[in-house]
Amino acid sequence: MNTPETSTRIDGGCHCGAIRWRLAAPVGAESLPVRVCQCDFCLKHGARYTSDPRARLELQAAADDLVQRYRFGHGTADFVICRKCGTLTAAVMDGSGNARRAVLNVNTADQPKTFSASPHAMDFDSESQEERLARRGGNWVGQVIWTRNPRIKVARRREPQSPLKTTRPRSLQSYPAIPSSSARKASLRVKRSSVWTGGSK
Ligand SMILES: [Zn+2]
Repeated sequence: MNTPETSTRIDGGCHCGAIRWRLAAPVGAESLPVRVCQCDFCLKHGARYTSDPRARLELQAAADDLVQRYRFGHGTADFVICRKCGTLTAAVMDGSGNARRAVLNVNTADQPKTFSASPHAMDFDSESQEERLARRGGNWVGQVIWTRNPRIKVARRREPQSPLKTTRPRSLQSYPAIPSSSARKASLRVKRSSVWTGGSK
């Protein structure tokens, strides 16, 4: 299966290991492009993406229910997020009529520093849906397969595994009292700001 087109293997995955990926690419990580999408979702995740239309990507999940797909905007791609650790690993386009294509978040590579190309900021906001699909057709990874691998070892960490399950909201009163010196500074700030809001001058 190793053709000169896909001679380099690059591995990665989410933080807990429930989602793993392997990219077979025609060039090494250092020669693959690095793009920073400027949409607010990608910026919030700090994602940096790469792809190569000649590459082949295998995405593996320990179980189907560990994969969260998130879709917004034109709704033509799914952002692939681990339900256990929250890591954004990839974006996959496999809607009806479109060949399955993907981009990877290079920050989730096992050795992210090997992606050494200067990142390019990309702003796709003004694209029409047709332009978007055409661009992905030319740039995104051209062969993508999803497999389920129950043998993947998902990390059992000592930290809470699911903040949604284990963290309860605390009232402010239940946090420790502010140390006295900071409390004094805080009260000074309140007094100063009351000059502006108090109305008496
Ligand atoms: Zn995970």
